Amino acid sequence: MTAMPTDEVLATLRMLQGLDLPAHGGRTLAYVYDSGLADADAVGLEALAMFAGSNGLDPTAFPSLLIMENDLVALAGDLLDAPDGFAGSVTSGGTESILLAVLAARKGSDHPSPSMVLPTSAHAAFHKAAAYLGVRAVLVDVDPVTLRADPAAMAAAVDDSTVLVVASAPSYAHGVIDPVPEIAALAAARGIRCHVDACIGGWVLPHLDVATPWTFAVEGVTSVSVDLHKYAYTPKGVSVLLHRTAALRSTHLFASATWPGYTMLNATMQSTRSGGPLAAAWAVTRRIGLDGYAELARRAREATLAIATAADGIPGLRVLVTPDSTLLALATDDSCDAFTVADEMLERGWYVQPQLSFGDLPPTLHLTLSAATAPAVDELVDDLSDAVAAARAAGPVRVDPGVAAVVGGLDPASLDEAGFARVLAAAGLAGADGSLALPTRMAGVNALLDACPPALREALLVGVLDRLSRPTPRGPNGNS
Ligand SMILES: *Cc1c(COP(=O)(O)O)cnc(C)c1O
Repeated sequence: MTAMPTDEVLATLRMLQGLDLPAHGGRTLAYVYDSGLADADAVGLEALAMFAGSNGLDPTAFPSLLIMENDLVALAGDLLDAPDGFAGSVTSGGTESILLAVLAARKGSDHPSPSMVLPTSAHAAFHKAAAYLGVRAVLVDVDPVTLRADPAAMAAAVDDSTVLVVASAPSYAHGVIDPVPEIAALAAARGIRCHVDACIGGWVLPHLDVATPWTFAVEGVTSVSVDLHKYAYTPKGVSVLLHRTAALRSTHLFASATWPGYTMLNATMQSTRSGGPLAAAWAVTRRIGLDGYAELARRAREATLAIATAADGIPGLRVLVTPDSTLLALATDDSCDAFTVADEMLERGWYVQPQLSFGDLPPTLHLTLSAATAPAVDELVDDLSDAVAAARAAGPVRVDPGVAAVVGGLDPASLDEAGFARVLAAAGLAGADGSLALPTRMAGVNALLDACPPALREALLVGVLDRLSRPTPRGPNGNS
């Protein structure tokens, strides 16, 4: 690889970024969060650059980072009603916060095969925690009508091995808040930890009129996670995990002196840790301020309600459940399918996120509404209406029976390269060199996945990831 002039590096990066969904502009309704505040974005980027090379590995070497971390934890504590004596850590994201909450619960118990009780609506990060940390996930169905966790069923699922129960505020998939007081009470009665996953709601809900209490104000809540890279509108890489007491946190602090190098002491999974995202979060939260966040939350909530009302009036479309926050789940009737609507929306410049069917729940479209989308609600609703009309005209997407037969014969436990190659070939997804060639319209692929049970979906998705993430080929146009 030979040196590239700066302008060429930047031009190439811009070209590459052109492949992506836009992170700004309010038309990407998942993955990204846009405040629409140019000043706040600018100060965040400046802070990100200023501290990109600083290392949170050693708080005595970079005391600025510790000061900013403690400031952010204190701010989150205020928003989440944390009592005196609480403690927290800044992590790289919601998944890391959840992994640490599960780890802390596991290490806080001496049960030889610990488990945690999750509503089926809990974020997939808890399943990752189960897989990584060896804490068995015991799944409990949510109420079929409200889609909220069912505390009585969760209580019945708790046993000797339970180290943690979980509630969401709100759930990502459906945007509803679980009955946190009942869930926290059942945990407290048994001396078990209760984690509230407010990764997506924690910076919004404090500013809205919310019927269900869900913060540390609820007795029995032992930890809460909130992602600043979501509704605090900060650059990616920042979440906060709060514990009711420092003692509860102590089980995820780590030090090692059992090697000849520097003494390692870490509060999170990372050791070397860029100061960039932390400083950016500090800067953006200071710049926007609590009044600013209240206004942004109000705008996002109004947009959510306006879209929900309009969506219910679009023939073929309905809101799955009344949203408690700023997330929407939309379902179609039999005249069309959600996946085709997603493709049609993409053609109109909007990204809405397909969610596969699950149990008795139909496939849905997920919309995360941020403040920057508010001025474009009318346009969004018009395009959604057109997109659904186009999907109805096309009719529901069908999985080719031949492809369904190939997939139906697969065993997820033993899906190997050859089996995966057969699926790709049958589905017309094999590129010339056997690599994966994804179509621009994804409805067919989504419908195929939707027809598979979850374990097979997982096996196929891992196969997709494996094929996608391979080194750029060597050669004149490659990187060598
Ligand atoms: C986003 C999210 C997570 C995971 O967070 P990442 O930052 O993507 O790792 C967990 N729980 C909920 C409710 C979320 O919305």
